[in-house]
Amino acid sequence: MTRTDDLTVEEALARVLAGVPVLEAERLPLSEALGRVLAEPVAARESLPPFANSAMDGYALRAADVSGASRESPAVLQVVGDIAAGAAPEMVVGPGQAVRIMTGAPLPEGADAVVPVEMTGEPWRDSDRPLPGEIEVYGAVAPHDYVRFPGEDIEAGQEILTAGRVLRPQEIGVLASLGVGHVPVIRRPRVGVLATGDELIGVEEPLRPGKIRNSNGYTQEAQIRALGAVPVPLGIAHDTEAAVQEKLAQGLESRVDLFVSSAGVSVGAYDVVKSVLEAEGNIGFWRVRMRPGKPLAFGAYQGIPYLGLPGNPVSALISFERFARPAILKMAGHTALERPRVRVTLQDEISSDGRETYARAVVSREEGGAYVARLTGRQGSHVMTSLVEANALVIVPEGVRHVAAGAQLEALMIDWPPSVF
Ligand code: AMP
Ligand code: MG
Repeated sequence: MTRTDDLTVEEALARVLAGVPVLEAERLPLSEALGRVLAEPVAARESLPPFANSAMDGYALRAADVSGASRESPAVLQVVGDIAAGAAPEMVVGPGQAVRIMTGAPLPEGADAVVPVEMTGEPWRDSDRPLPGEIEVYGAVAPHDYVRFPGEDIEAGQEILTAGRVLRPQEIGVLASLGVGHVPVIRRPRVGVLATGDELIGVEEPLRPGKIRNSNGYTQEAQIRALGAVPVPLGIAHDTEAAVQEKLAQGLESRVDLFVSSAGVSVGAYDVVKSVLEAEGNIGFWRVRMRPGKPLAFGAYQGIPYLGLPGNPVSALISFERFARPAILKMAGHTALERPRVRVTLQDEISSDGRETYARAVVSREEGGAYVARLTGRQGSHVMTSLVEANALVIVPEGVRHVAAGAQLEALMIDWPPSVF
């Protein structure tokens, strides 16, 4: 059945998100898990640090032995050993004794603190440092000083990462330090990309009268890749049912999780996509009250979610931003689906037709910390250059037809460092 609904951006987004699933998990080696979302919580099987170790190069000793030490009256201790990082010492530090110890080396039995070498009489700046027979200590330390105790950071059994966590370099590092070499993460969405239209030719084909190059296919593949998802290029379908069907069948065979198409969804132009999806799925055609954008189709083809974006390159890119991007992120297990927004002061005026308008702009930070936005030029939905210049989309809310320079609005930052890779 075909429906045509008139929706706000928020309503349309809510419907798209409700129509896509979170994908299942796969187990990956840690070195391939960057940017992925954890599918299950991870509990530590080991403590971190795993054993008491020195935080400094210095001497392990009994704090009581140096309680009154100062530069004027140093404590003098007998040096009974030397422990390098990686060693497993067996000596015991008795009263009046010390053991030289390197950062990360295990604290020997009997010792309860470390004095840094800088607080001792050892000439620590020299490269050649034979083990002295005794050592002068010039200051007091308390028990536990300069010692890292086992489990101080993480206790064995503790849940360290919850399901839904995005694995950044620091999460990868924590997992590695705990001996977790494989992790359950949500798999990458595979997104079929289809361009429709009789006017389209390939990027490297010679131009012919009436033809334009299929740029949307490339833009969308890049947008998908930038989210850490896998684009499955389906090429160009000419405006016949058979052509569209063939491409969609190809997508099913490539096991796509979502179809994204461009063009063929505006009134009067969508018959082909419409009849194919009606025959083997379902489709809703929406008039979304946004600019650029407006026509949007969403449904499913043989059970696979299908998102039809408008054909104009700028509308296609911005509609992808607003609808396909959050949908793909959701499928990949993410819960932070929105780009960051900042409040900006406009340097130019903006007019709108009352739809929620996305104006291409450069947002920059002024001295003092305020953000300002300058429009990047002509805002027609076929004008790509103003997108190339832009790092943000300034949002004019629905119902507003004119915003003067100097006014404040929200900007969607499409270029801030992404949290996925
Ligand atoms: P339509 O949605 O089919 O009415 O197309 C709207 C506009 O977008 C027309 O000017 C099309 O030529 C253009 N267009 C459609 N598909 C693409 C594409 N894949 N790449 C570039 N422009 C396109
Ligand atoms: Mg068309």
